[in-house]
Amino acid sequence: MSIMTVRKVPTTEKLVALTFDDGPHPTFTPRALDIMASHDSKGTWFVLGSLTENYPDLVTRIAAADHEIGTHSYDHVDLTRLSRTQIYSQLSRTKELIESQTGMFWPYFRPTYMAYNDTVLAVAEMLGFLCNVLWSVDPRDYNASANQIISRVLSAVTPGSIVILHEVTSSTTAALPAILRGLKDMGYSAVALSELLKAAPIE
Ligand SMILES: [Zn+2]
Repeated sequence: MSIMTVRKVPTTEKLVALTFDDGPHPTFTPRALDIMASHDSKGTWFVLGSLTENYPDLVTRIAAADHEIGTHSYDHVDLTRLSRTQIYSQLSRTKELIESQTGMFWPYFRPTYMAYNDTVLAVAEMLGFLCNVLWSVDPRDYNASANQIISRVLSAVTPGSIVILHEVTSSTTAALPAILRGLKDMGYSAVALSELLKAAPIE
């Protein structure tokens, strides 16, 4: 199988990828976009197809601001409990919705609940996904205060880290400015996934 599972990128460059799961969200996504813009940072959104359908303009805005958009699933199911046909439908519908809104395809897939198996990866690969994107830093932001999220992220990042964040509570957007300031103070840049992957040595 040639689809690659990535948790972090082996690099000495002080680059990190912030990733935002479970959106787009009508309140949190525009705020996150504004905050990222004011810190001259790029991120990667792993969106749900169902929400892309509800908020198509948000997906267009994410792409227009030069961030990247990966596929999470259509409605946040555990893909390992589905048939091959259902897995295909979850991923292809989401991929097509992103493509129809942005004219772009980013070959990044992130499995909901980190649940995947060979069938899930085979289907993702058949649809053109090149990376199964996991993470190396998880501040558990869906159940944390902004201060907890800030300290968990800033104490854990190392060069090449992939940070998982969510757009499901206000804590994450509240934490984002301090995360970006803290990263900058430590000499880090927050970049989109493609740029982080480019920092890896060629094998
Ligand atoms: Zn999720």
